[in-house]
Amino acid sequence: MVNAQHHLQHLNQELDQVRASLLFTLSNSTNLLHQSLAETLQQNNPEQWLELMQKQLGTEYKESITRLEKLEAAVCQIDIGQYGYCCDCEEKIDSQRLNADPTVQRCIRCESNS
Ligand SMILES: [Zn+2]
Repeated sequence: MVNAQHHLQHLNQELDQVRASLLFTLSNSTNLLHQSLAETLQQNNPEQWLELMQKQLGTEYKESITRLEKLEAAVCQIDIGQYGYCCDCEEKIDSQRLNADPTVQRCIRCESNS
């Protein structure tokens, strides 16, 4: 088992950052739909944000949403004790790779094969 707790801390920090920056951008948007989405988000649990945003936001937010998806997936893997294993070959992912980006899903071999 890799040092999942260490990564969990980083993942949660980044989750908070990405969520805060999305909320800020939406609240300050000139688009009324985005403003009302920001209000909806604040009334909901952050764990529901991804679903709400996926339904209502277009491609201009794709990058942040994709990042949220990856972060949440990694946190979920930690919860179920599957963190740090390649989703293709199930080998352990190199710890340097996880330190560089704690959301990586594939070992370097599978990544370069894809
Ligand atoms: Zn692999």
